[in-house]
Amino acid sequence: MTAQMLDGTAAAAAIKAELTTRVAALAERGIVPGLGTLLVGADPASRSYVTGKHRDCAEVGVASISVELPETATQEEIADAVLALNADPAVTGFIVQLPLPWGIDQNTILELIDPDKDADGLHPTNLGRLVLGVDPATAVAAPLPCTPAGIVELLSRHGVEIAGRHVTVIGRGITVGRPLGLLLTRKGIDATVTLTHSRTPDLAADVRRADIVVAAVGQPYLVQADWIKPGAAVLDVGVTRVGTTESGGAKLAGDVDPAVAEVAGWLSPNPGGVGPMTRAMLVANVVEIATRLTR
Ligand code: NAP
Repeated sequence: MTAQMLDGTAAAAAIKAELTTRVAALAERGIVPGLGTLLVGADPASRSYVTGKHRDCAEVGVASISVELPETATQEEIADAVLALNADPAVTGFIVQLPLPWGIDQNTILELIDPDKDADGLHPTNLGRLVLGVDPATAVAAPLPCTPAGIVELLSRHGVEIAGRHVTVIGRGITVGRPLGLLLTRKGIDATVTLTHSRTPDLAADVRRADIVVAAVGQPYLVQADWIKPGAAVLDVGVTRVGTTESGGAKLAGDVDPAVAEVAGWLSPNPGGVGPMTRAMLVANVVEIATRLTR
């Protein structure tokens, strides 16, 4: 079997086209949504993620507000930058690019974000609403964490059934695995989830049971072809720098061994799978916040 591609680049392009129409409608009412980013330090991967987010915003007509602080910024300086973004009327929603430099208390910084401007959906208030299963159609619905929302959207846009399926999520990180487990088990999405981590005793056995496998670890080629149930959908989220390309760029590897394509029914490429969906959902969150403000 050669897996069909869960094409995140194409799905993200379709989402951005839909968002462009919504942003144009907002512009007619004099509203221009704005995404703020706070980047601390000079990590090349973080910088390239932030650049990609602003590029997506420009494509759909969302304004960009970019704030940068040096690696040496103190906890107080970072906190002040967050409070300034909270207060800036041009900023509809914003993100603090993670990870923050060593020695900074990340959770304290994230808690300072105004939950109503939390474009990443990772503020405790919004994660709490995800736990409570607040109906996305209501006024208090929270922005969803971007990578989990992007994964659900990627599957549904390719017609991969989630309801009633068994999903094994590898990795319990706060940006992907843990909120994804909550989202997939929400009423209306209705998957049954096994959430695994580095202390899981027999990971291969948990993966073999799964109709859908999500690998969000950051360990190159961890997931092997003989772990996969034939026909399963496999989403490769992890990104690890494993060297340098001939042109000097970063050589990246995913969490899924390429041989998985011979067994799986569906496979997300990496790059070009979950990454573009994550960024599209970030822009979607900002447009959604701007739209709610008009109601
Ligand atoms: P994280 O917070 O470091 O979490 C990694 C998780 O992997 C942890 O729960 C860890 O378990 C688990 N783990 C480590 N080794 C394992 C093993 N051998 N077997 C099973 N589980 C293992 O990272 P994250 O922020 O969730 O991100 C995970 C990966 O996804 C990273 O490579 C990141 O770059 C990538 N990512 C990609 C996107 C995208 O849009 N493509 C978005 C976000 C993140 P313990 O909890 O027991 O330590």
